[in-house]
Amino acid sequence: MEARNCFCGHQAIIRTSWTQANPGRRFYCCARTVQKCGYFGWAEPQLCARAMEIIPGLLNNMNNLRASAREMQIKFANSSSY
Ligand SMILES: [Zn+2]
Repeated sequence: MEARNCFCGHQAIIRTSWTQANPGRRFYCCARTVQKCGYFGWAEPQLCARAMEIIPGLLNNMNNLRASAREMQIKFANSSSY
């Protein structure tokens, strides 16, 4: 992926979008944590319709699995303290 500069003149960082419309699509933005310049640019072309259909479902599944794993950890932690 090419290096891009934001409006501050610094090298822009790449982040991943997790919005419903662009799940998993990477974009460039300002690397600063305060007083960001607001630079924004997609690093990848728009996802195909099929990916947009599949990825949100996969994300949901992953979140559900994480939630039940956390629940099991809590149960286990509680039961082992007896
Ligand atoms: Zn900037």
